[in-house]
Amino acid sequence: MPLTISSVCRNITPSTTLRLNALVNEKKQQGLDVISLAAGEPDFATPAHICQAGKRAIDEGRTKYTAVAGIPELRRALSEYLLSMRGLRYDAKQTIIGTGAKQVLLGALQAILEPGDEVLLPAPCWLSYPEMVRMAGGVPVVVHTTMDQGYVPSREQLSWAVTPKTRAIILNTPNNPTGVVWDEAALRMVAEVARAQDFYIISDEIYEDLVYEGEKHIPIASLSDDAYARTITISGFSKAYAMTGWRLGYAAGSKAVIEAMEAYQSHATGNPSSVAQYAALAALTGDQACVEEMRRAFEWRCAAMLAVLDAIPGVRYAKPHGAFYVLADVSRLLGKRFRGEVMETDGRFAELLLEHALVSAVPGEPFFAPGCLRFSYAINEERLAEAGRRIKAFVQELV
Ligand code: PMP
Ligand code: GLU
Repeated sequence: MPLTISSVCRNITPSTTLRLNALVNEKKQQGLDVISLAAGEPDFATPAHICQAGKRAIDEGRTKYTAVAGIPELRRALSEYLLSMRGLRYDAKQTIIGTGAKQVLLGALQAILEPGDEVLLPAPCWLSYPEMVRMAGGVPVVVHTTMDQGYVPSREQLSWAVTPKTRAIILNTPNNPTGVVWDEAALRMVAEVARAQDFYIISDEIYEDLVYEGEKHIPIASLSDDAYARTITISGFSKAYAMTGWRLGYAAGSKAVIEAMEAYQSHATGNPSSVAQYAALAALTGDQACVEEMRRAFEWRCAAMLAVLDAIPGVRYAKPHGAFYVLADVSRLLGKRFRGEVMETDGRFAELLLEHALVSAVPGEPFFAPGCLRFSYAINEERLAEAGRRIKAFVQELV
């Protein structure tokens, strides 16, 4: 047999967001003063009491394998947290802790998909979803939405995309890359279509704590018994507790799905990091003031980011109310020249912006948002203002 690479892996597009993070770090190491508006992670340090709990776990020798689905005290704490903070009644046995929401999402797809099953992806959506669906043997079915509809699909759009092979939909509110928060009517519509056509709802709520201007995050599983029964709720510790590097996420759902995910995880990764689990236990059971402090900082930065974009002619966006991204439609600037070169695509825009203005942003294309750039405002106010000046100067050079 020739030493080939599998077709699944040959067809994976490596994560653009992670590639960009690496490129920015490389440039920083070369001494260049790059401002990253590409990063999908809070710039804050993990709160001290959470780090302490991690250190304590090491000192106390809690460095062995744990139960595959997580230490019982963390699953119990999660079950209580989901009830008190989200109004979701999940028994500890209906929860699983995994190595980041990313791995948990893949586990959920592995647990429910048969080869060729279709998964609806309202788009723009996080660029890892289509790849994960394919990695799990499924077929991504992208439901495109526009800025004018606030990046939320209509009932008709969703219904048209459903076929007898539809097994699931992946929802993500607050949304990466748009920052849009779905309202109750939109979520009820999804729940109704899912019920009528009988498919799963995978609800990625990783940005649930980061909502602004009085906006409310609604877990779709809280809407009805039927929505609860068909939803796999996914979230994690990366964004709310600034714990991206600890790699810890979780899912909650029916016992059947969680048991299947546990079986899969038992061979794929085993338990998530023991040390990270003790840190996460402190995160869930400790003072939640740190979450609110960071949320407030993001809210302020969101306004600052929008002020930057408002000052640039030709840039439009749907107003974000959550996460820490804004999707800027720069299509009116494409086709213009930068120092003699016609700037044709969002990808080239992002490259030129990085090369010449030392500001990184993620092109919209891998999120199914061609003609757009995703700006993350997870940086401090001064740097954000400086980034604004650089972007403005860059755009002023376009002819
Ligand atoms: N879902 C979305 C929408 C994300 O943006 C991210 C960020 N990486 C994740 C899931 C995964 O987060 P993590 O694996 O760090 O928990
Ligand atoms: N989810 C973040 C982002 O979209 C982090 C990077 C990643 O895991 O893709 O930038």
